[in-house]
Amino acid sequence: MTVRIRADLDQLPAYVAGRTVAGSLKLASNEVSAGPLPSVTEAIARAAGEVHRYPDMGATRLTDALATRLDVDPARIAVGCGSVGLCEQLVQITCTTEDSVVYPWRSFEAYPIMSHIVGATQIQVPLTAEHALDLDAMAAAITPDTRLVFVCSPNNPTGPAVRRAELERFLDSVRSDVLVVLDEAYREFVTDPDVPDGVELAARYDNVLVLRTFSKAYGLAGLRIGYAIGPAHVAEALRKVCVPFSVNAVGQAAALASLDAQDELRARCAAIASERVRVRDELLALGFEVPETQANFVWLPLGDRAAEFSEHCLTERVVVRAFAGSGVRITIGDTGENDTLLAAAKTFHPAG
Ligand code: PMP
Repeated sequence: MTVRIRADLDQLPAYVAGRTVAGSLKLASNEVSAGPLPSVTEAIARAAGEVHRYPDMGATRLTDALATRLDVDPARIAVGCGSVGLCEQLVQITCTTEDSVVYPWRSFEAYPIMSHIVGATQIQVPLTAEHALDLDAMAAAITPDTRLVFVCSPNNPTGPAVRRAELERFLDSVRSDVLVVLDEAYREFVTDPDVPDGVELAARYDNVLVLRTFSKAYGLAGLRIGYAIGPAHVAEALRKVCVPFSVNAVGQAAALASLDAQDELRARCAAIASERVRVRDELLALGFEVPETQANFVWLPLGDRAAEFSEHCLTERVVVRAFAGSGVRITIGDTGENDTLLAAAKTFHPAG
């Protein structure tokens, strides 16, 4: 006899983390290569000296600072162990095995994993031919059992963001008892003025919750801090199911200090956005298909040649993220890193 675990976990897809290869440049996890914002490093060192104490379980100071900065009631904010932790909590608080979750596919790989864990039915809605979310198809896919919809904008791993008119039309059509989660992990990199601010939409729609993170633009991926802004009763439920103390103290201190470094953040994001244009233009000129992107990555829909491209990059000491049979996601780095990637791409022939 052996200890029994749930048989259905055999079908649980694995979360695949971007590889780290010694001596190679990692452009595989949408991290910023510049590290934490310069003024935040000191706050991290200070907080590190206090790690024998449990963290503030309610992340009170961070919540209050976010509330002030974003002009929302702190009761509408929940801080989580990364926004992926909040994705899990969102499925937990909305769904049982009787319910369904609607999300675009391909999109963030945590959506199927978290939905599977609670046993919810998964309704995956294919992207458009331009690799963007198909909100009309997503609206049509919602059933009476649907409790949760993920809208990933910009979409990981493909890049396009949803524009205001289309998103508002979608939100107007969704039943008010369905929670719509706008996953804005890459919001800080958006430059298109037609892409709405999710926080503003969450203020106007009673069933909208926006998810953000300190992992990407703020450069704190290793410290695991994400946050949600939505209806107060949803935020309260998120806090209820949070693993106690999973939002760590060093992360809270770093996130708090980061909020005071908005000038540094803006400069960093502007540089990445301009590199994004350059990298995309050069890849297009090399003959690659590259969907429009508003995030800190580009997507190459190489289909069956995705693995071949990533292996080719690896021989050139660049680690990218391949999604077998589908495409390759490449993080935008600094100018030198992007030059290294482009040099590798030049010696690969997209047409075969
Ligand atoms: N949402 C999206 C769309 C993401 O791409 C990611 C990270 N890959 C996350 C959420 C989770 O980020 P974190 O848990 O580091 O906040």
